Amino acid sequence: MNAYERIKETLGALENKGHFRQPYPVDYRANGAIYLEGDKYIDFASNDYLGLTNHPGIRRKSIEYVEKYGTGSAASRLLSGNSVLYEKLERKLADFLQKESGLLFGSGYLANIGVISAFSGTDTLIISDELVHASIIDGIHLCKAQFSKFNHNDMKHLKQLLEAKRSNRENVLIVADSVYSMEGDTAPLDELVEIKDRYGCFLYLDEAHGIGVFGEHGGGLAEEAGLSQKVDIIMTTFGKALGNYGAFVACDGVVRQFLINKARSFIFSTALPPAVIGGVDCAIDVLVNEPVRRDVLKKNYEYFREGLRETNLEIRGNAHIVPVIAGTERHALEIAGYMFENRIFAPAIRPPAVPSNSARLRFSITCDHQKEDLDKVIELLKEYDNNHHNKFGMSHDRLIEESWSGCQRKEA
Ligand code: PLP
Repeated sequence: MNAYERIKETLGALENKGHFRQPYPVDYRANGAIYLEGDKYIDFASNDYLGLTNHPGIRRKSIEYVEKYGTGSAASRLLSGNSVLYEKLERKLADFLQKESGLLFGSGYLANIGVISAFSGTDTLIISDELVHASIIDGIHLCKAQFSKFNHNDMKHLKQLLEAKRSNRENVLIVADSVYSMEGDTAPLDELVEIKDRYGCFLYLDEAHGIGVFGEHGGGLAEEAGLSQKVDIIMTTFGKALGNYGAFVACDGVVRQFLINKARSFIFSTALPPAVIGGVDCAIDVLVNEPVRRDVLKKNYEYFREGLRETNLEIRGNAHIVPVIAGTERHALEIAGYMFENRIFAPAIRPPAVPSNSARLRFSITCDHQKEDLDKVIELLKEYDNNHHNKFGMSHDRLIEESWSGCQRKEA
C-alpha cells in the first residue's frame, strides 16, 4: 500500500467509526452569533468569552501597529525578530499576572509543547491531571521525563503518587489547567499550591480558559485565589477571552532564560506579528478598565446553570463552560442536530475528545449572549428531554448499559 492509499484508508476508517471531522465554513461572526450560508446561529462554541474579537479600541490598536510596524515580524526572536515591542508587552503581561518575568509564544499549543518538553531530563517526573489539554500531553510525549497522571481534581491521588515517586526524582513538575475545557470545572488551586510546597515541586498552570474570566482584573484563577506568586509558571493564551492569537508564559527571570534557550517552539518559530502585539496590549487595558464584561459573563453563566437545574440533565462543572452530558455519541449528535435546526450552534463533543459514554454538548457562555438566547437553549433542552426523545432522564447506569449493548451489537 503506498502512502496515498494509506491516507485514504485512514480517512475511510474515520468515516466508518463516525469520527470524520470537517470544520464549518463560517461567513462571519458578530455579537455572540455566527452566520453560516447567510443564516444566523447563536454561537455557543466560541471562546470569545468577553466579546473582544470585535472591540473597537483593540481593532484600532491592531491597525495602528500594522501601519507603523508592518504585517509580520520577519524572523524568530533569536534572529532579528526581537522588536522592543515584544519586551515591552512581556513586561506589561508579567506585571498584570503578578510575576517577575515571562515570554511570548506563537500560541497556547506552542507554549505548552515548548515549555513542557523543555523539562526533558530523565531525572524529571511530570505529574498532570488526567484531563489537561492535549497540547500538554503532546509536550510530555516530546520529552524524556517520566510521566504520571492523577485522577481528575483528585488531590488525594496526587499525594499518593508523590509519596510513591517523589523521592527517586530530582525534579517534579505538577501540571493542571485552571478551567477544564471539557468538564467546565476549576482546579483546586489552594490545595495544588499546598501540595507543591509540601513535596518541593514546580507547579505549571494552564490559564487558557481562566484569563479574563476570573480575578478582580481578569488575571485568571490564580489572581482570584490570591496565589499568582505561588504558582511557578502560568500559561495564558490570547486566543480565548483576549479575542486574539498567541500566548504568554509568566515565570521568573531564570525560567525565562531557560525557555529562551531550551523551548524549541520558541526558538524555531517566527515571532508574533505586530497586529497581535498591539491588540493584546490594548486587550489587557480592556480587561482592567471594563470589568463589566466579566460581570455580565458571570451573570450569564450563573443564570444558564440555574435554569438547567430545573431539568433532569447531568450538568457538569461550575464555570462559564457548561457541559451537558448526553451519554452515547448518537444522543449527543441528535441533540446537537436539534439545536442546529433551531439556530443554536453547539456541536456534539464525542470520543476521543471525551471518554466513551460521556459524549456531550458543551455550551460556552459569553458576555454577548442575551437572556433570550440562554432561555431559548434552556427551553429547547427541556423540550427535548421531556417530550421529544426523553433520553436525558435515564440514569447514568442505564445510559452505560444501553451504550454497552450498542457496542456489542456493532461488534457482532
Ligand atoms: N490549553 C487549553 C486548556 C486549551 O483549551 C487550548 C485551546 O483549545 C490551548 C491550551 C491551546 O491554546 P491555543 O488555541 O492558543 O493554541
